[in-house]
Amino acid sequence: MKVSVVVPLYDEELNVAPLVAELLPVLDGLGCGYELILVDDGSRDGTGAAIEAARGRHPTVIRHVALARNTGQTAAIDAGFRHARGELVVMMDGDLQVDPADIPTMLEAAGDYDLVHGWRWKRHDTAFKRLQTRVANRVRNALTGENVHDTGCPLKVFRRPVIESLKLRTGMHRFFVTLAKMEGFRTLEMKVNHRPRQAGSSKYGMWNRALRGLRDLFAIRWMQSRHYRLDCREIATGEGLANRQEKPVRADGAAEAP
Ligand code: UDP
Ligand code: MG
Repeated sequence: MKVSVVVPLYDEELNVAPLVAELLPVLDGLGCGYELILVDDGSRDGTGAAIEAARGRHPTVIRHVALARNTGQTAAIDAGFRHARGELVVMMDGDLQVDPADIPTMLEAAGDYDLVHGWRWKRHDTAFKRLQTRVANRVRNALTGENVHDTGCPLKVFRRPVIESLKLRTGMHRFFVTLAKMEGFRTLEMKVNHRPRQAGSSKYGMWNRALRGLRDLFAIRWMQSRHYRLDCREIATGEGLANRQEKPVRADGAAEAP
């Protein structure tokens, strides 16, 4: 088994070193091959330099993927997914609000599931953000027919076929569970630890989280309503992609003389 860990980073220069310091011992403890893909989403601060410094210290396990400009969290995750080579792919935020210590248990659970997603059951965010999240999860569940406590939890483990099935669009990182279920993948929710942000600041406010998230939710709802599962088979297999070499047939069914 090989594991890839994908972390999107936008203006997180102060978080890169602590992230790597906390994450690598956990990943070493897995006893399998792993790679840590740090994705710089067009940061304006020293995030790129901090990633390079970390890669210099751990060149065998750290990879640095850089987006030419800030393209958003979903795009940064997508860029990481496209570079990931592991059979299991972990996604987590770069601000250490979720706890790397939860990763081994989630990876173990991924033996029986295609997507294991975290539930930050004791949030360490402002009261306003917690309220936003609670309302967002209720509305999302009501519209998508799910029963997920924390659709936007940034700590998730994917089996490779799940990420290969995704065609992402901006904002979709909040709906991975619904997208995976739509494709028939088995999902499992697990309680995970949550901590206050140590350094830097959140990239989201009321407008780009709640309102955009609501608009995106309608798109996901539409996708669900238009989803079909193909149930078809070819009755007889022709050779296909060949040049036709049949003998011409006459109207009475007999083969024509050459
Ligand atoms: N992020 C990113 N591109 C963006 C916005 C955010 O790569 O345009 C990253 C950010 O650096 C962090 C993660 O996505 O690692 C989640 O962002 P943040 O912590 O601001 O979100 P919150 O926890 O407040 O929901
Ligand atoms: Mg955060």
